[in-house]
Amino acid sequence: MKETLAALIAIVGAENVRTDEESRLRALASWNPVQIKRRGGGVSSVAAVVAPSDTEEVAAILRLASQIRTRVHIMGGGSNVTGNGTHRGDNGGDIDAFPIALDLSRLNSVTWDEESLLVTAGAGVLLASLEEQLGSHGYTLGHLPRSVRLATVGGSAATNAIGLLSGRYGRQSDLTVSIEAVLPEGEILRTSSAPGANAAFDLHSLFIGAEGRFGVITSVTFRMQPAPEVRAWVAFAFDSLNDAIDAMRLISRSDSDPAVLRVFDTEAASTIYPAPERGALLLMGFEGEEIRQAGNYQLAYAVCQQIGGMSIPESPTSPGDEWFERREETSAWSANGRPGGIADVFAFGATWSQLKHIEAAVRAAMSPLTTSLALEIAHPTTEGAALEWRWEAQAEPPTTTDSIDLYNRIAESAYSACLHEGGIIAHHFGIGEARRNAFAVERGTTAMKVLQVIKAGLDPAGILNPL
Ligand SMILES: Cc1cc2nc3c(=O)[nH]c(=O)nc-3n(C[C@H](O)[C@H](O)[C@H](O)COP(=O)(O)OP(=O)(O)OC[C@H]3O[C@@H](n4cnc5c(N)ncnc54)[C@H](O)[C@@H]3O)c2cc1C
Repeated sequence: MKETLAALIAIVGAENVRTDEESRLRALASWNPVQIKRRGGGVSSVAAVVAPSDTEEVAAILRLASQIRTRVHIMGGGSNVTGNGTHRGDNGGDIDAFPIALDLSRLNSVTWDEESLLVTAGAGVLLASLEEQLGSHGYTLGHLPRSVRLATVGGSAATNAIGLLSGRYGRQSDLTVSIEAVLPEGEILRTSSAPGANAAFDLHSLFIGAEGRFGVITSVTFRMQPAPEVRAWVAFAFDSLNDAIDAMRLISRSDSDPAVLRVFDTEAASTIYPAPERGALLLMGFEGEEIRQAGNYQLAYAVCQQIGGMSIPESPTSPGDEWFERREETSAWSANGRPGGIADVFAFGATWSQLKHIEAAVRAAMSPLTTSLALEIAHPTTEGAALEWRWEAQAEPPTTTDSIDLYNRIAESAYSACLHEGGIIAHHFGIGEARRNAFAVERGTTAMKVLQVIKAGLDPAGILNPL
């Protein structure tokens, strides 16, 4: 152990290696309900937190870890909600000789190529900080996950995060032009930003959404755009959720291109608008050049009217402004801090032809087990959309074990209902520890074999997150 510590200090300097209990516990930060419940009084399974200053230092650390076969926990902002797989059992299970947490916060450079509308940011840069730096020069990434103040560039790439304005800007994989990553045995991979570079073997895609299983992403080159001229909201009330879903589908296949297109069931709508007692709300946000957005807005408006939607006045309160202002709220997970309280958001993916069946099946599976259940349908494309289920439950008696059992029961019921109807269980928020088993069922043995072969080839010592 002493030798490993000395080797790490030789790479990054003594001031960048922390071994105090607080740093070691913070290194495993996660918003995953089960990890939160387990953590009370927990002992960190990480022996040291190491903060490299550049890619070469990351490479030297991984080379060392591969040689001595010790695990490396890659730290982003710690805002994952699915838990991290490297250190299974935060209370001491599965510990290697000297597990290392890799703190990437010093990889914080931001460089620009304004002519090509490209920006390259280090893995440790917070998304909000990147957006603010771009905004002060009249540009935007348009990448606004609700966790924009918690999540880093590396974490967003590793989980293929999606922002609230995905209709206009896409998700992390759409925004990424190239990456730099360090492989588990220490080689550095740099992909090219030149158009066409990914026509054959789109290598950077192997790392986007892989949650650190194949390598450490050290920087990402993003597409940026000039900041939009205007942003405008429009909201419609529908008699039924199915009508609102139909309107959403038809808008998605039209040319109206809203930056935001969301459907809220009655429960979800009540948080942004004193909603009708039954029915659903559809919200659209348009942004870009005013002359073009006016036409887009009219087109989507006409679709909603055709399906029987009633336009909601923008005053005295605008549902769109209300929703957007609350975009960074973290309250969806707050019940996890309460004895016996358990809460999470599941994000399932469905094609349009499956979506209503999945909605009905998941609602039937979750309703008896939860104290509140609200659905937002989001991030539509021409082929389908995400179903975001925000839920809370209460374990009785309110012990840690009962809370975790209840969580597992709810998750298993929801995942199997979704999978049974042909949906996918991780449209966003990643797989992590929480969804590993369901993910393996969803993908099947052949797909898992492909991933295992890649994993074994790149990470023979198994130092990074397990599959
Ligand atoms: C309140 C709240 C709101 C959220 N809203 C959204 C949302 O709107 N959209 C969305 O998509 N997600 C959302 N999330 C989930 C989460 O914020 C995202 O998954 C985010 O991208 C994680 O980034 P992070 O920097 O916090 O990563 P972490 O949580 O630190 O890490 C996530 C995983 O990636 C690995 N990792 C981290 N950095 C790297 C790297 N450089 N290279 C390789 N692997 C790495 C970690 O080991 C871990 O397995 C939300 C979470 C919270 C708590």
